[in-house]
Order: sequence, then C-alpha cells, then structure tokens
Amino acid sequence: MKLTVLGKYGPYPNGANTACSGYLIEQDSTKILVDCGSGVLSRLISAIDINELSAIYLTHLHFDHTSDLLPMGYLLDDLNKDVPVYTHLTNCEYEKILFKNKHFITTHIDGNSIVNIGNLKLSFMEMCHPVINFGVLIEGDKKLGITGDTKYCENVISLAKQSDYLLADCSKPIGFNGPHMGAEWALEIVKESGTTILATHLSPFTQNDIFKNQERIISVEELKTYYL
Ligand SMILES: [Zn+2]
Repeated sequence: MKLTVLGKYGPYPNGANTACSGYLIEQDSTKILVDCGSGVLSRLISAIDINELSAIYLTHLHFDHTSDLLPMGYLLDDLNKDVPVYTHLTNCEYEKILFKNKHFITTHIDGNSIVNIGNLKLSFMEMCHPVINFGVLIEGDKKLGITGDTKYCENVISLAKQSDYLLADCSKPIGFNGPHMGAEWALEIVKESGTTILATHLSPFTQNDIFKNQERIISVEELKTYYL
C-alpha cells in the first residue's frame, strides 16, 4: 500500500505550492482519494489518470477537506466518468451543492459500514469534531488509519490500535485548545497504541519541524509518497 500526500494544511493553505487536506491511497490498481481540499485536484491530476480513480472517501464536509470536489465535477463531466463517493450523511445545504454533479455516486456510511473497494476494505469510526467526522481504517497489505479532523478521544486510540500507521490530525501547537490535537497528543497516541504516526493537518502557522527526532512520529511532506 502506498500513500501520497497531496495536501496537508488546514484550514487554508500555507502560501504558494501548498494545499489543504488530500491523500491518495493506492494498492495495485485500486486508487482512493481521501478528502479533497483546495489545491488537491491539480495535484491529483498530476499524480494519476483520473479515469483510474476508484473512489473518494470524505472524512467530513468542512471546506478544507472538500472544496476541490466542486471543480472536479466539471472534469468528470468532460470525461463522462462516474466516481463513487463515500461519506456520512449530514443533510446540510453544502452537501447538496457538493454532490449535485451526477457523476458523484454517493453512498452514506456510518460506524457499522464495511466498504470494499478493489482489494481494499474500509471501516469507519466516529471521532470528535464540531461536525460529524468519521475516521477510516483502510485494510490492504497494510492497515492505515486516517483520523480526519478530531480532538483527542477514545476512538482515536481505538483506531490507532488497529492501524500499522495512523495518519492523524495532530499537528497543532502544544497546548492547542480546539477541535484538533496539539502535538503532545501524538506522543500519547504512540504510547497508548504502539502505532506509527503520520502527523498531518498543519496550521499554516505551525512549524514544520514540530516532531523532529521523535521516534515513531513522521511529520508528512506534501507530494511525497510513503511506501507503507
Ligand atoms: Zn474539520
């Protein structure tokens, strides 16, 4: 399984040549895009042939995780290509706009759902964020957990314990008080679960070397592919 980080910033990019949340997970011919924030579409087009995109999973519907889906609809029109999109049903106005394009074939998931896409199996776990956010466990030849956006909660540890790698929203400054995890929680997750953390969702004002020399914590880099 491999993970390409298309964008890691939130809630807005960090200047030129950066992007908000977007991750491409590939195993053999299965290619899943997890989240699609601003700046992600151009990088996705550069990374793969969109005709080969198997599915999209959206952890939640905040703009920095979804906004590039809107122009993607135009591309799918031109290609006449349908893409399955999995996410939790929220019934908000933005959801109706986001999935208006007929090429997005939406399926609503919850904590009991199991989704098989190619040779990857996805299951879901609700985290703790101001809007409903389901983390995902992607099982292939490795197990990759992705938290989406969340503050520290029991389910983060539960997902981490099932994962070889946990792509986690844990890059806010130490002591951060809000709906994401400050860097201190990355250490706690490693201690509690023994997993390896791929730290992401940096605030534009967070220093990039926040996890320098920390064992089992990798601060991910944009446009880098990680062979898990
Ligand atoms: Zn969010």
